[in-house]
Amino acid sequence: MKFIADAMLGRLAKWMRAIGCDVAYSHKIEDGELVNRALREGRLILTRDTLLIKRRKAKGNFFLVEGNSYKDQLKQVTRQFFIDPYQNLLTRCIECNIPLTEVDKEQIMDAVPEYVYKTQGSFRTCSGCKKIYWPATHRDGMLETLEEIFRGR
Ligand SMILES: [Zn+2]
Repeated sequence: MKFIADAMLGRLAKWMRAIGCDVAYSHKIEDGELVNRALREGRLILTRDTLLIKRRKAKGNFFLVEGNSYKDQLKQVTRQFFIDPYQNLLTRCIECNIPLTEVDKEQIMDAVPEYVYKTQGSFRTCSGCKKIYWPATHRDGMLETLEEIFRGR
């Protein structure tokens, strides 16, 4: 399932990418273009905008997000679409929305700090921004936040 988030949902979009969802997002996209892109790419519109959903081209292709915090929003969206927040954690670039690929340690030797190279076992990289991800960078902090959001679910 592919999504496109409206300009007000930047934080939600990044968190959805972090848990592996395909979410297109631009903070400067206009409503008309957003609706068109959704149709063109087969994406469901995530929005808080009650005017946007009245557009003819958005009909039947949106989900109205409630809640002011990204935590509430993430909870709502994962529940609605049966997304397991842990299953695909950190498999997609948070900035580019591109799936990450595993890389051999040797290939990124010069690109990460020596300490990281020595202590981390697995690395993933984004073919778009070339950023290198390793578990300790985001994972621990993210897991804590996810625990907080999904505790008691
Ligand atoms: Zn990237």
